[in-house]
Amino acid sequence: MKCLIVGQGIAGTVLAWTLMQRGVAVQIADAGFPNQSSGAAAGIINPVTGKRFVKSWRFDTFFPIARATYQAMETELQCAIWQELPILRVLENAQQANDWAARMAVPEYAAVLGEHPDAGPWSSFLSSGLQTGEIRQASRVDFPRLLSTFRQKAAAEGFLQTLQMTPEAAKNLAGDFDFIIFCEGYRGLDNPFFPNLPWQLSKGDGLLFRFDAPAADGLHEMVKRNLMLAPLGDGLFWAGATYQWTFRDDGPSEPEQLSIEERLSGMLSAPYRVVKRFGAIRPTVKDRRPFLGISPLHPKMIIFNGLGTKGALLAPYWAAHLADCLLIGKEIDAEVNIARFAPVNG
Ligand SMILES: Cc1cc2nc3c(=O)[nH]c(=O)nc-3n(C[C@H](O)[C@H](O)[C@H](O)COP(=O)(O)OP(=O)(O)OC[C@H]3O[C@@H](n4cnc5c(N)ncnc54)[C@H](O)[C@@H]3O)c2cc1C
Repeated sequence: MKCLIVGQGIAGTVLAWTLMQRGVAVQIADAGFPNQSSGAAAGIINPVTGKRFVKSWRFDTFFPIARATYQAMETELQCAIWQELPILRVLENAQQANDWAARMAVPEYAAVLGEHPDAGPWSSFLSSGLQTGEIRQASRVDFPRLLSTFRQKAAAEGFLQTLQMTPEAAKNLAGDFDFIIFCEGYRGLDNPFFPNLPWQLSKGDGLLFRFDAPAADGLHEMVKRNLMLAPLGDGLFWAGATYQWTFRDDGPSEPEQLSIEERLSGMLSAPYRVVKRFGAIRPTVKDRRPFLGISPLHPKMIIFNGLGTKGALLAPYWAAHLADCLLIGKEIDAEVNIARFAPVNG
């Protein structure tokens, strides 16, 4: 089987790798557009989300697949991309502390929520006086390293081209491939092979910063309050992200950057220096489920998109699922199949 993958963000990368593991001949086309969502992401997998600490959709199914996939990629590509790191959860107020305690009492949450009586090495960097807990089974995938290592391999082995795929060019290439799979991130919104999908794009801003104090080298846990902080190594920290439902472009915006700095100053007690600012548009969907499926207009055109805010957790499971559908005719899971939006007749 021969497949052309359009887009080399986390979706295209994990899908290409998965298909190649199964003997598919893969070609990739990526335009190298700036402000790629995967380039801005911290690659964090957080088992509980929201103010009420609810477990992520099908977390217990997706997480082991994510872990196994990224670890296998690590071995094959010989680059360190997978880190299991707890998240120090700073609890804002009595209500949050109560919600946390209530969740901890639920057996299903025993593996993911735990005690963390104080902020440990983070104590001298965080504002004091707040309660803390620990989120377990949290991880971070180094997206920039994974994507650039895979890109170098693909370019060296001649299966990646830097080009923007137009619908006309895709149509002309359809005879050369069994499938053309679009992993275009938010730009999938304009793809005429997949009209009328209920996108609900959200832009996110973030920044990278450094502490001046050398003790910051001892900070290995991620921290979540009203921002997420993730240590990236070499004294660098990622902070983010904002959510904007209306925006003018896909780059960083001044009001969002100011709001991050305001929150950061409220969260930290130690001086820091901002070293980079960024913004990108997430491929988010109204019903918060990915887009997988066959174009209603062309049987060779496939979509793998809509990973939303959770590309790190979702990409491996759904790439394997799509590979099963294309290779052995498995039915696409109804919850992610774009056919779920087809008009009901009669
Ligand atoms: C600030 C921020 C923080 C985030 N943090 C996290 C996090 O911690 N954990 C997490 O899991 N998720 C996070 N996300 C979400 C995550 O970024 C997405 O889920 C994921 O990266 C989407 O990947 P993708 O491959 O679908 O899209 P993208 O990463 O946007 O990749 C799409 C690719 O397609 C290419 N392309 C598009 N159209 C064409 C075309 N026609 N021809 C050729 N190439 C094309 C582009 O150049 C690009 O390389 C975050 C997002 C943002 C913005």
